[in-house]
Amino acid sequence: MPNNNNIGWNFDETYTNLPSMFYSTAKLDPATNPTIVFFNDSLAKELGLDANVLQADDGVNTLAGNSLPNNSMPIAQAYAGHQFGNFTMLGDGRAIMLGEQLTPDEKRYDIQFKGSGRTAYSRGGDGFAAIGPMLREYIMSEAMHGLNIPTTRSLAVIKSDDPVYRDDVLSRGILTRVAKSHLRVGTFQYALAYGDVADVQALADYAINRHYPDFKNTSTQYADFLRKVVKQQAYLVAKWQLVGFIHGVMNTDNMTISGETIDYGPCAFMNSFAPNTVFSSIDHQGRYAYGNQPAIANWNVARFAETLLPLLDSDQDKAVEIAKEIISSFQMYFSNAWLAGMRSKLGLFTTKETDNDLISELVRAMEKYQADYNDTFLALTRDTLEGEVLFQSEEFNTWYQRWQTRLQEENKSSDEVVRLMRSSNPALIPRNHLVERALTDAVEHDNYDFMNYLLSALKNPFAHSQAQAEFEKIPVPQTPYQTYCGT
Ligand code: AMP
Ligand code: MG
Repeated sequence: MPNNNNIGWNFDETYTNLPSMFYSTAKLDPATNPTIVFFNDSLAKELGLDANVLQADDGVNTLAGNSLPNNSMPIAQAYAGHQFGNFTMLGDGRAIMLGEQLTPDEKRYDIQFKGSGRTAYSRGGDGFAAIGPMLREYIMSEAMHGLNIPTTRSLAVIKSDDPVYRDDVLSRGILTRVAKSHLRVGTFQYALAYGDVADVQALADYAINRHYPDFKNTSTQYADFLRKVVKQQAYLVAKWQLVGFIHGVMNTDNMTISGETIDYGPCAFMNSFAPNTVFSSIDHQGRYAYGNQPAIANWNVARFAETLLPLLDSDQDKAVEIAKEIISSFQMYFSNAWLAGMRSKLGLFTTKETDNDLISELVRAMEKYQADYNDTFLALTRDTLEGEVLFQSEEFNTWYQRWQTRLQEENKSSDEVVRLMRSSNPALIPRNHLVERALTDAVEHDNYDFMNYLLSALKNPFAHSQAQAEFEKIPVPQTPYQTYCGT
């Protein structure tokens, strides 16, 4: 095997110190004739990797799974989870961990390949991914990062000549996913269901040490850990709601302990404001609809709390009391974060009791007049009230006067208000028609120009640049959009 240490790999395994039930060793399925179709230069740099070497032959072979970095011991991680409410054993069925990369600024990131072949947890699946869904994850995750929303990242997408059999024969893709860790609520559920309390404790200690070391070895460490995860999830979902992001599969295995957004399957951004918006083709009940996301996150962290009960107190009743109190705080963390975000979107620097009403009134009117969620805030930011029926309505006019009065109470210059609004309301989100166009060009015509252009504009969605303005026109009428748990 070629020596590819000049790439800058700096692996340091800690996950494999956990009991062996938490992983299985894995073998990467070689890719035929791999080419690199997307590469994230700035992320490579953050990771301490040499972007040039990584994009040359040896590097591409590593990203394709054809040669292993030094010190890499590929593994698949075990986890379980509630999928649409039903508990099942899962695990990395088409993902393989290469190692934990220590970066020059001493951060630790999992380097994982998605679509790299079967593992011990593949069940009936082939372990592969098609190129389209991997490119989709690249776009969505990098867009989320640009929006300042915690997320796993995408380092590269490889395309190979191997066929992937779905409804059609597709090209194989491999995504390099980078994450603070891949610990999930489902990992804890797995520990409890298939191991014993010592396994849950080993996992909790590992997670605390890796993500929240401040709590380590304190008398309240497990309660503090639970509260922190609850808080991080509440903040994360508040951020999703504020930009109209719909995850689509908020199963407990797709919820991280680190607070990063993970698993970009059928996710999409909402256009017209409607809380019951669902894009996923398999979500018939609307379980993961936009408006349900906070309640589902709350449900998921309650499942997480259940796994920690034996660690919270040796007296079960006491443990339940502690867990209940912490879980019930989710709503408060969420509301506070959401309201704070909404205030910024409306250019408000201070907090007033009446703000809740002001915000609710706008939201109600947006829903009634089916206003485009992001464009409404963009129009308010620019004070160009055009293009939405909402703006002609009496409700909106009354609200607008109220908002103006509220703004005047702030004693801020209009420049300051606009600056806050511009940094809180994205000029560009990866709208469905843009993502589809990028994917069609890339997958069907091998043309990556539009995707490149879109990705560069998504890097800083708060720039309000000329290039971003070019993406603004939304096709009318909006055709019903469906996304798939694309594999
Ligand atoms: P997801 O919907 O991506 O969260 O995946 C749910 C479960 O199915 C996880 O355990 C995945 O690893 C597994 N899975 C998804 N696609 C495949 C595939 N093509 N081959 C094997 N396992 C898969
Ligand atoms: Mg998943």
